[in-house]
Amino acid sequence: MKSGEIVGDFQEAVEEVLIRHRSILDCLSKFHESTSRANRAITKTVTDCGCISINAIKQKFPQKESLKDCSKYMDSHIKGELCDHCRETIAEEFGNHLFYLTALCSLLDYSLEDIINLEYDRINTLGHFLLS
Ligand SMILES: [Zn+2]
Repeated sequence: MKSGEIVGDFQEAVEEVLIRHRSILDCLSKFHESTSRANRAITKTVTDCGCISINAIKQKFPQKESLKDCSKYMDSHIKGELCDHCRETIAEEFGNHLFYLTALCSLLDYSLEDIINLEYDRINTLGHFLLS
């Protein structure tokens, strides 16, 4: 199965179970809530579980380095690795977020596959100049 088919099938499945949150307002609030839940799940890996820690300092990289080589100096600030439990919890929250993103696409008549392709093209075109 091609990835495009999976994305299309996923959007169809979301549309089938969307009946409870048919209103754009319900969907928007659930989308927002899903972002918070993902943030909370990631935060709890540090504060509750402790499988990862965050050690953040200002990013430093040589002035003369090309933009392309900058990535080797950039640090995620994450120390450690997710345990199985945290990995599963975060995956569920990401999935929930993806559900509501897809639901919003459907309610506003976007194809999720088109959105992914558009962003993929943008990344390929802008490449290392995409500093968001
Ligand atoms: Zn953990």
